[in-house]
Amino acid sequence: MNRPERPNRLEIHDNDALSAARDLIEACADAREMGQKIQEAVARNAAWRGEECINLLAPEAPTSPTVRALLSAEIGTRAAEGHIGKVNRWFAGTRHIDEVEALCVELLKKHFRCAYADHRLCASMIGNAVVYTALSEPGDVIMSAAQPVGGHSSNRMDGPAGAMGRKIVDIPFDPQELVVDIDLFRNIAPLVRPKLVALGLSMTLFPQPVVEMKEVIGEWGGRLFFDAAHQLGLIGGGQFQDPLREGADIMTGSAGKTFSGPQSGIIVWDDPEITRPVTTAIFPVWAATHQVNRVAALAMATAEALAFGEKLQAQIVANAKALARHLHERGIPVLGAHKGFTTTHQAIADVTAFGRGLKVAQTLERAHIIVNKNLLPSDRKEDWDYPGGLRMGTIEVTRYGMKEVEMAKIAELIARIVVEGEEPERVRAEAVALRRSFPKLYYCFENGTPLA
Ligand SMILES: *Cc1c(COP(=O)(O)O)cnc(C)c1O
Repeated sequence: MNRPERPNRLEIHDNDALSAARDLIEACADAREMGQKIQEAVARNAAWRGEECINLLAPEAPTSPTVRALLSAEIGTRAAEGHIGKVNRWFAGTRHIDEVEALCVELLKKHFRCAYADHRLCASMIGNAVVYTALSEPGDVIMSAAQPVGGHSSNRMDGPAGAMGRKIVDIPFDPQELVVDIDLFRNIAPLVRPKLVALGLSMTLFPQPVVEMKEVIGEWGGRLFFDAAHQLGLIGGGQFQDPLREGADIMTGSAGKTFSGPQSGIIVWDDPEITRPVTTAIFPVWAATHQVNRVAALAMATAEALAFGEKLQAQIVANAKALARHLHERGIPVLGAHKGFTTTHQAIADVTAFGRGLKVAQTLERAHIIVNKNLLPSDRKEDWDYPGGLRMGTIEVTRYGMKEVEMAKIAELIARIVVEGEEPERVRAEAVALRRSFPKLYYCFENGTPLA
């Protein structure tokens, strides 16, 4: 049974975590008990993260009971490669799968007011790879935003864009205004004539000059790709700029961030000219079996967004503004103060004066307040593990029915720990009590919207 130890084996994952798991497995009497260990860890997470934490992670959203139930539906055990339709599928027996997938596609088109949508991306990251495959070639110059101003690895050298041999030039940013420096862009873009400009921001507070950027690159037929991973739900709910209407050629987004659906990706566009390259980059290049249970859940989340999206997203933004303002007033500097802090679900705090992002995030976790460390425009990319900022998002707290009053309370709890140095363990009971007083998930067909 015991395999020889190989202590010097290279491991990128945390070695202690893996070795703890090995010990746990070896201590089990049989495989059934090993299975039990999985159930127990999942249950611990559900009890802690699901019921006892104030969750302010910007890329996370809880899903409605119906959406969650669909994720374990029978249809998820079926294979359905290919495009929708009898002839297009490799496998027989897909007639009801076709129905579900067609519903999903048409609901997405309706919600995002666009001509084309695809449902087969198991992650938004894969959607970005699809765009690079469809609209550019190895060796092409593209432009994208660097990580310290909010850019995401998927559009950089260390992600699909770089791995697929695209040459990357930075989109110039104004670190004060937290938007693209359009004057500099007008100077730089014509020098490199990018085939594709990827505007993707994981740190996103304000609308970007999409119209102006498209005008510039349109000169040589450059295409604008808006990576709306974070803002997708806001855009669908009409609470952010509408990139497709402003000239973006294509938009990808995460279904599990502001959109509040099952974690996966969405891709939408209007131009029939790119329909063939995009659709064939999805299949057979980047998707084979594509989790039909997830497609069903995505379709349901889109129906929820049609019914509740506008209200939900407006409250998410109102809550982010309130959270940012209260934090700022309590002595934690928040970016964008001179512009009203934020127009999205995010608030970005500068905690360089309080021990930097990692330490503050770990301290807040002890109080059951979950946030993430984040690069600031003043950080270098190499500082990713020791950045100066904190990113907070209001998706989950909003879906549980919290409003501006609760944001003030959350800011108070955070400031007591971060600014006043109160022990997180002493604040924890209040955080748990606040979370427990909002047990019901809203903006879904089961529970409707919270009372005004
Ligand atoms: C989160 C994110 C992605 C990746 O999305 P997944 O759905 O997690 O694959 C891509 N781009 C940006 C800007 C992001 O923030």
